[in-house]
Amino acid sequence: MTLPYKAISQKQIKKNNRTLILSAIFHSQNITRKKLSEITNLAPSTVSNIVNPLVDKEILVETGLIKTETGKRAATITFNEDEPVVLGVRIQRNFIKAGIFNLKGNLKKEKKVEVKDFWDFENTINTLMKLIKEFKEITESPQKHVLSLGIASPGPIISRKDEIAFITNFPGWKNVNLKEYLTDKLNIDILIEHDVNAAILAEKYLGSYKKEDMIYFSVDRGIGAGILSRNKVLRGVLLTAGEIGHTSIKYNGPECECGNRGCLELYCSTTKLLEKAKKYRHEILPDEIQENELTVKSISEAAAEGNETAKKLLRENAYYFNIGLINLINILATPHIIIGGEIQEAGSIWLNMVKEFFAEKAMDHLANNVKIKFSKLQSSSSFYGAGIAAINHVINNPDIIYKKSP
Ligand SMILES: [Zn+2]
Repeated sequence: MTLPYKAISQKQIKKNNRTLILSAIFHSQNITRKKLSEITNLAPSTVSNIVNPLVDKEILVETGLIKTETGKRAATITFNEDEPVVLGVRIQRNFIKAGIFNLKGNLKKEKKVEVKDFWDFENTINTLMKLIKEFKEITESPQKHVLSLGIASPGPIISRKDEIAFITNFPGWKNVNLKEYLTDKLNIDILIEHDVNAAILAEKYLGSYKKEDMIYFSVDRGIGAGILSRNKVLRGVLLTAGEIGHTSIKYNGPECECGNRGCLELYCSTTKLLEKAKKYRHEILPDEIQENELTVKSISEAAAEGNETAKKLLRENAYYFNIGLINLINILATPHIIIGGEIQEAGSIWLNMVKEFFAEKAMDHLANNVKIKFSKLQSSSSFYGAGIAAINHVINNPDIIYKKSP
């Protein structure tokens, strides 16, 4: 017989308590020991036992004294501004961006490199490793230490197994275990996160809604959704939840790499939008403009100037996207939707089309309560999210910090 609950070991309790305190410090940024005790329900002595060793190591610092409710003055605790740090890396089909983040989640330094041959897995990974090594060298000294590396990658990714199932149009990336591959070579604690899951984490801390329940819907070269449910990224038992891009909207539609037919992303990814626009480019752009200058932005600009073909293409894209949006909201009933990815270049003209379709086709209860916005982090949600995922990883595995030599 399997029972739903079982006793937790002392070791596990200690770990959970550390996670609870570190998480409370991360969320509040500045907090007194007393307040930590109140919000976590841990005894003041337990709080001190957790906080003090990290103050001694200068991982946590005591900042100014604040006046408490009782009129006494108490020191607030926060993470050290300078070190230790984590690295966050965003892999995309055309570039890799790496950043150094402190444990408060602030970006200290960033660098972006172009990737011309993403199809070539080995080559792309070599570029990635060069960048990480460069950042490790800048960051590491006897005093400084990189605690963890978070990588946000396109997917589907089998989360927590760190395996990229496949990346549409790039067969070289099928079934690769990126974590295993990199751990051997880099000697660093690594966490792989699906780019949309990283994005929703960034939206939680830095975005415009900051709610406990939100969806980050990415419309980029592929389509996917990061779902935050009761403050947790929804992964599902099989660890690939949110693959809305591979839900079919046409049962006899074209074949998709995932094995299904008529998948949403075959209709409204930016890959599809650009492919169609290329076909009609003479109707959209003046002749002297080159084919490679055709971007989502240039299509949107043409539409804003009244170009009927450009408007039609955006409308068609918004129409199909809205089908996926309603499908997802009908299942999850989440009221806050953030749209990100390359489609943001299409601007308000596209977003208003989506909102119109949504108002028309969603059930009234949803149409009246769902809020849809573009991400204010622009194209950087997944990049910031890679850093935050690395910090979360450290908070959830506090041994990483407690074992760190001073
Ligand atoms: Zn598919």
